This record gives sequence, C-alpha cells and structure tokens, in this order.
Amino acid sequence: VQDAGPAPLDASKLKITLTQSPKALVPPEQLRFGHTFSDHMIVATYDPVTGWSAPEIKPYAPLTLDPSSSCFQYCTNVFEGMKAYVGPDGKPRLFRPELNMRRLERSVARFALPPLDGDEVLKLIKRFVQIDVRWIPAVPGYSLYLRPTVIGTRAALGVTASDSAMLFVIASPAGPYFPQGLRPISLLAVSDCVRAWPGGTGSDKVGGNYAPGFLPQKIAAKQGYDQVLWLFGEDNRVTEAGVMNFFVIVKREDGDGLDVITAPLDGTILPGITRTSCLSLASSSAFQKENSLRLQTHERVFTMADLAQWSAQGRLVEALSVGTAAIIASVSKIGWKGKDITLPLHEAGLGPVGMALRKKIAAIQEGREEWEGWS
Ligand code: PMP
Repeated sequence: VQDAGPAPLDASKLKITLTQSPKALVPPEQLRFGHTFSDHMIVATYDPVTGWSAPEIKPYAPLTLDPSSSCFQYCTNVFEGMKAYVGPDGKPRLFRPELNMRRLERSVARFALPPLDGDEVLKLIKRFVQIDVRWIPAVPGYSLYLRPTVIGTRAALGVTASDSAMLFVIASPAGPYFPQGLRPISLLAVSDCVRAWPGGTGSDKVGGNYAPGFLPQKIAAKQGYDQVLWLFGEDNRVTEAGVMNFFVIVKREDGDGLDVITAPLDGTILPGITRTSCLSLASSSAFQKENSLRLQTHERVFTMADLAQWSAQGRLVEALSVGTAAIIASVSKIGWKGKDITLPLHEAGLGPVGMALRKKIAAIQEGREEWEGWS
C-alpha cells in the first residue's frame, strides 16, 4: 500500500459533540463586540505525519497548549473575520464566504503553516452556524461574527516553520458596530508608524500585522481621534483606516458624476471583502441607476496632498471606512500635520454613495435582496 502522506482536512469526517449545558443568550442590546461566545467551536489539529485530524464541533472551551508552541513564540497565527446573518425568512446566511476562505489559504501559505483546504473549512463553518443558529440575534443589524483561526503548534523553540497546527473557529454574536447609529468617525493620519510595506504581509490577515497598530491607535485615541489613517512612503500615500479599507468620493472635474477611489492592491492593502464588494456595486450600472448616481471607480494611488487639494477645491464629498465589522462608516475629519481636513456632514450619517452602498450590502447580507449569489 502506497503511503498517501499527511491527510488533508476532510469535513465529511466531522464529529459533533453538543453541549450538555447551553448558555443563556445575552440580550442583544447588552452585547459588546467580541465578548460573548456561542455554545460550540470547531477544532481540528494537524500532525506532520498523520495530517489533519477528523474535525470536531464541540462545546466552547479553553485550549491547552505547550508554552513553547510556535504561535506563542513566533506569531504563527492567522485568522479571518466573517459574519452569519439571518434575514426575514429566518435562514442563516454567509456573505461571500469563499473569499474569506481563499484569503485564509493565502495567509496560511504566507506563514508556512500546513496546507489547509478552505472549501472544507467552509463546509464545517456552515454546519457550525446551523448548530449555533440561535446565537444570531434576529434583529436587523445584528449578526454572528465568526473567527476562523489557524495557529502553529510546533512545541519547540527552533526558529523554523511550524509543522504542526490547529484550526479553530469561534463565534460571537455582534450588534451594530456603532450602537448609537451611523456616527461618523474621525481619523488621525499617521506617517511615523507604518502598517505595511512592499514585500511585507500587509495583504494577508496574519496576527503579526495587528499588534504593531495598537500603540499608534492609543496615541490617536488620546488625541481624540477614533482610528488611525495609515500612510505609506515619502509621498504619504493613503492606504487603510484602522482595520478597514478606505475610500474617498470625489466630484469629477469634468462635472460628470463622482469618482470612487481606493488604494490599489499593491501588497500593502488587505484585500477586504467589503472593499471588493463596494467596487463591484459602484461600477454596476444597475446599482447606479437604482440610486441615481453616476460613478467611476478607481483603484489608484492617492496621497494626503491629493486629499488636501480635493478638500480645498470643495470636491471631497465623502470619505468611507469599509469592512465586515461596520460595513461602511463615514469619516468626519482627518487629522494631518496638526490640522483637520473636514468632510461635509450628512444628515443621515452617511453621504449618498456611502448610504447606497451600505443599504445594498446589508440587504444582500440579510437575504432581503439577491445579488450575484453573494449571500
Ligand atoms: N483592512 C484590514 C487591515 C482588516 O483587518 C480588515 C478586516 N478584515 C479590512 C481591511 C476589511 O476587510 P473585510 O472587508 O474583509 O472585513
């Protein structure tokens, strides 16, 4: 018999152990993002000889790991962030989850973790969401945040790739990102700390990208700003805002509608699922017609000097932070070199483009509308 090598992850081998003591649900209005967890979790482990274990769905519980584990020493941990929504029909839905799975596979490969088939992970996640469906609050704007995670578990201090790993997925019921409604956020543009650089890991969702952002975030908060606007390079290119992608909406010089501009995927930008969805919608003539908008989308380099110029010319009509957590938030001002670039205030909390995109994406996520099989 030929040796087949380490086993790939196989969702058909799933073992399910349901909790004997289901937790009480937290009332939706008391939920704080990421503090409450559902009854169960997915776990599978990888051994270099036998490969992926039969995956399990079992009661949510602490993990026991050797203190020498690679993830604790060398940050071999990668993750995803996605949500399950229930719509008026009561059915749970995921939003473009195959894109999260492709991104997870890339993150795993970038950190030289054992290979993982995202399609199998997605099968497990679908089963998990069905089992813990009662944790999706049936209130508009609420969802179940899913956190697939892969960590290196090689229990030895040698500085080398982890040949052992663990996949786990946990779930946390989540309310609207801004409970007080669509409050615009303020950003502090930062150039002395850099989130990502060419050849780095900025385009992957790896744990190591996030810890270095906490200090600049604290400094921004101390100065009264909600989030950091990450810049890059001598010319202060605008890249991302906090842990969200960033768009600006600029009146065209030829008067023919609006430009929808975001930084290009040059390796320094996390390819957000919300970002790509906004680009697709904004460039669709059906979406534009439905919202009486004339839009041209651009993935292009733009700088703080461009922002300042568009603002001075009265052409900067909206700035948007986009990501799974908040879908779309509008930006009220951007601190830069001791001054603020201020953006027009919109009564509804979002300008016409941000509002149209947000409404459309929420409707697709909650199954109130169909769009190209995204949900
Ligand atoms: N940028 C960064 C750095 C992020 O962590 C995230 C959240 N995953 C995003 C952008 C937004 O990505 P998505 O739309 O897939 O949530």
